[in-house]
Amino acid sequence: MMRTHTCGELRVQDVDVQVTLCGWADRVRDHGGVLFIDLRDTHGVTQVVVHPEDTPSVFAIGETVRAEWVLSVAGKVAHRPDGTVNPDLHTGEIEVVAAALEPLSKADALPLPLDDSPVDERLRLTHRSLDLRRERLQQNLQLRARIVSSIRQAMESQDFTEIETPTLIRSTPEGARDFIVPSRLSPGSCYALPQSPQIYKQLLMVGGFDRYYQIARCWRDEDARADRQLEFTQLDLEASFCHEEDVYQWVEKAVGAAFEVGGRGAHFTPPLPRLTWHDAIRLYGTDKPDLRAGAPIEDLSSLFLETEFQAFAAAAHKGAVRGWRACGGGSRSRKELDLLTVRAKELGAQGLVWMVVEADRKLRSPIAKFLSEAELAGVRNQLHGDPGDLLLLVADEARVCSEVLGALRVEIAAPRGHAVEDGMALLWVTEFPMFEPGENGPTPLHHPFTAPHPDDLEKMQTAPFEVRSRAYDLVVNGVELGSGSIRIHDRDLQERVFAAIGMPADEIASRFGFLLHAFRFGVPPHGGFACGIDRLAMVLADEPSIRELIAFPKTQSGADPLSGAPAPVTVQQLDDVGLLLSPEVRAQLAGKTAT
Ligand code: ASP
Repeated sequence: MMRTHTCGELRVQDVDVQVTLCGWADRVRDHGGVLFIDLRDTHGVTQVVVHPEDTPSVFAIGETVRAEWVLSVAGKVAHRPDGTVNPDLHTGEIEVVAAALEPLSKADALPLPLDDSPVDERLRLTHRSLDLRRERLQQNLQLRARIVSSIRQAMESQDFTEIETPTLIRSTPEGARDFIVPSRLSPGSCYALPQSPQIYKQLLMVGGFDRYYQIARCWRDEDARADRQLEFTQLDLEASFCHEEDVYQWVEKAVGAAFEVGGRGAHFTPPLPRLTWHDAIRLYGTDKPDLRAGAPIEDLSSLFLETEFQAFAAAAHKGAVRGWRACGGGSRSRKELDLLTVRAKELGAQGLVWMVVEADRKLRSPIAKFLSEAELAGVRNQLHGDPGDLLLLVADEARVCSEVLGALRVEIAAPRGHAVEDGMALLWVTEFPMFEPGENGPTPLHHPFTAPHPDDLEKMQTAPFEVRSRAYDLVVNGVELGSGSIRIHDRDLQERVFAAIGMPADEIASRFGFLLHAFRFGVPPHGGFACGIDRLAMVLADEPSIRELIAFPKTQSGADPLSGAPAPVTVQQLDDVGLLLSPEVRAQLAGKTAT
């Protein structure tokens, strides 16, 4: 064995033991002739001390050591002298007195600092192998591994079978753009990389596997968006003969196990709350509510049906008047309150009414004089306003009221610390709408295999946007962690959904024909879910970006500064797969090389 212990292992009970450690020179310090080398590996840091009198030849080597050299150190474990114990290190009570020191490899001057000083992310990604040496990334990736392992155990304990599905496939139905892979064996034809294993997992259900899961790699060729990666990993699952509640329980067990290993078990108390999509929009203005950001939005319309304040009366009849209480928010200056109004307008409202609850419970507001005492008291009571609170009201279309107040709710909570508290707020958002308006009429909000709510079937052709689906999302702290649905297993119903979205028969046949064909031979009722692992790990590691939880992430524009991907390929490679560059692209590439 090259080493007897790791750099995180030695304690006082090992004093006098002869050891050999290997690792990187984290820091080298010369203290009045005595050399200290902090030796680091993934397990921790151990202080190595080199005495010039006792071991002059070792000292001579030690003096040449620079940061990030890889060393092998042999010596005896000793107590650190009184007053030099480091309580912040697990190994802080001991040091290793070097009797031999061998540089295993040297390091050039580093292109980026490895301490906590801020570094440009591109530089970090360009030198990712160095960047990965940071304790933060070491811990994040180890946490991620434990999360995945706990999920696997939880799924297996629930009788799910791990099955791999192909990654060179035909298009999937998720609705984003596919990454395509040209085929050499069929020039001019392409595979797609899966946006999810959706069709294959449904085929596995037809194939008689009761419960499938996979830690699946997926690809979506989407425009750059904050904190999205073009390739990502998800816990993907599908099961037969189940209802929503079964799926919720399975997922809660798996995600709960991840929370447990992430040290957040106390924040995970199943069964998680559920909220229908309609209620989520009404109460929080979003389908990803952050339950930590304070009270829900209240509908105040009924208070203003008879009011003399025309703006409210009109909205109460034709739209809505809604309000939200910012607990303790009343200390804002007039200028800050005006800025909130500006922000509300940016968010799409015609205006914003603010009211501050004074010590005597009276409401101070620019519009107080237009409202009756009873109306003011009604607002205060319904919003549970206490002295010092700020009440915000919007009169508009119902959806605008909730969306604007919902956005303000999160924005107001965040800088005040509410939304970033240690707490975790998880919930299921259920009964998503079946369709959303698309370029050519209704398009599926989830995917076309999602089952419609049984009570809304008649509306499918007449009022498609009112049809609820059996789709659900798992949301944590205002972030969508995953989504899934109960699927359609009835051929007629599937055809009605295709008809509602106006998908032509030939497109249906070419995109999904192989699934529909399989559906002709006995389909079990089934449903499933997919949960983003990168995002889950990000939440549990309390990191601001998923890139801190991915060993080799891409930048927001999809580039990999480490390898230079994506990069042009040779004409020969293109020729092999039957592709030619257009003259424009050729000119662009030539321009690029020239500059
Ligand atoms: N395939 C879906 C997705 O990746 C999840 C599911 O419906 O199971 O979002």
